[in-house]
Amino acid sequence: MAFELAATPFRRLKLASFAPLISAERAVCPKCKSSRKYFCYTCFIPVGISESSLPTVELPLQVDIIKHSLERVGKSTSSHARILSPHSVNIHIYPDIPSYSDTNKVLLLFPGPETPSLDSLLPGKTTEHKQCSTGVSSAKRQRLQRPLCERLIVVDSTWSQAKRITADDRLHDIPRVQLKQAETFFWRKQSKPSHYLATIEAIYYFFKQLHELQEERSYDGQYDNLLYFFAFQYLLIKNKKETK
Ligand SMILES: [Zn+2]
Repeated sequence: MAFELAATPFRRLKLASFAPLISAERAVCPKCKSSRKYFCYTCFIPVGISESSLPTVELPLQVDIIKHSLERVGKSTSSHARILSPHSVNIHIYPDIPSYSDTNKVLLLFPGPETPSLDSLLPGKTTEHKQCSTGVSSAKRQRLQRPLCERLIVVDSTWSQAKRITADDRLHDIPRVQLKQAETFFWRKQSKPSHYLATIEAIYYFFKQLHELQEERSYDGQYDNLLYFFAFQYLLIKNKKETK
């Protein structure tokens, strides 16, 4: 079986070696005792793979994923985020929602016609063309000093469940943000449009776009490993199709 990313939509990403996944065997989850391969999607821990052999991704903000209890657990990609960013990501099963006392420090990533996009929330957008002597625009310099928020909330569910979750009183007044245009890497045949993103893709794009808007250094792949399991799943499906 080939595990090459060269001819895939993931080819430009800086991903860790898939060797630990390729050699992984199905095993019993140490926590819930269910049989799993690669990781346990209910306990959010690696299974049959040592934790130290997996990449970890440090995120500049804390992420709370609110997951609908009926979301098909095996299909959900929120566990990828928790396993690859264990220090930054927490998963809450709806109706369990953390209480956010200061809504100014939280943003809810959720698309909608009225929702501002990430770039419009960061100040100084219109003065982008003014370059300082160092080559960093004054707008960017200004943005560097302003944290966008302290926590990001992401909803992991079907569209109709997500509407209900975001209408919940506890989330209703939290300011929202949406991504700039982003396309899915993983175009399944399920007649979904190409901007319909898996939860892990939405998180990946959020941090990549935030970096591009806020940081002086250009984006260098530091969040690419968020897509580590996702890209591997793509290869598994591709290999399966090719051997049919
Ligand atoms: Zn488990």
